[in-house]
Amino acid sequence: MPRSIRLYAPASLAAGAIVPLSPDQAHYLGSVMRLAAGAEIAVFNARDGEWRARINSLRRGAAALAIETALRAPTTEQLPDLWLVFALLKRQATDLVIQKATELGVAAIFPVITMHSLGERINLARLEAIAREAAEQSERLSLPEIRAPQPLSDLLAGWPRTRRLVAAIERAAAPPPAAGEGPTALIVGPEGGFAPAELDDLRARPFVEPATLGPRILRAETAAIVGLALLQAAPRPP
Ligand code: SAH
Repeated sequence: MPRSIRLYAPASLAAGAIVPLSPDQAHYLGSVMRLAAGAEIAVFNARDGEWRARINSLRRGAAALAIETALRAPTTEQLPDLWLVFALLKRQATDLVIQKATELGVAAIFPVITMHSLGERINLARLEAIAREAAEQSERLSLPEIRAPQPLSDLLAGWPRTRRLVAAIERAAAPPPAAGEGPTALIVGPEGGFAPAELDDLRARPFVEPATLGPRILRAETAAIVGLALLQAAPRPP
């Protein structure tokens, strides 16, 4: 059976409500999926859960849904308490990291500026659109929060001490990342790796746990995906 179309909408979802969609969602429904008014889809957000809806109006660049019945309560979402910190990469690699981190369930994404990272800026609207599409595809109800880029030293200075920060460090004598209960984050360096001073700084923090992802040197985006996969796959055995 083909998967039903799921769209994210921030508006309040309740039976009888008419909810506007974004212009790109209207384009997707009309021009890509070739749907028309009356077609049935699903719509969701973290606050109200997932609802069956019908396309109420659809024309170029504008669409609205009529909300019908609840499909899934907001409390049914099972997300690990997992964040991702990653050094800014080239655009394509950054896009991939945002998409995969969303599929792998991260709640928040922190781009950081390091000595060898590329650029200092992100296009937040673009990355949010990528995260939204990944949430729609992966049956999430929530979207990950994407923070503004900040220097690594600022991030570490403001780090919440109760959240362990698993640092992916190549060629390190360290165990692989251990999945576990409780607040966790993964940090991955840029293509050029962390600078020696950054590695010293990381290792000196009480909340940092160095981790290996195996004997080969992975691209940063691969390291992010693999590290998150290990951290969200299974709880730490008792
Ligand atoms: N240019 C560096 C490699 C950087 S790889 C060099 O040749 O030494 C980019 C990032 O991916 C690293 O900063 C690290 O966070 C992560 N990474 C890559 N391979 C890894 C591995 N085998 N174990 C742990 N982390 C790894």
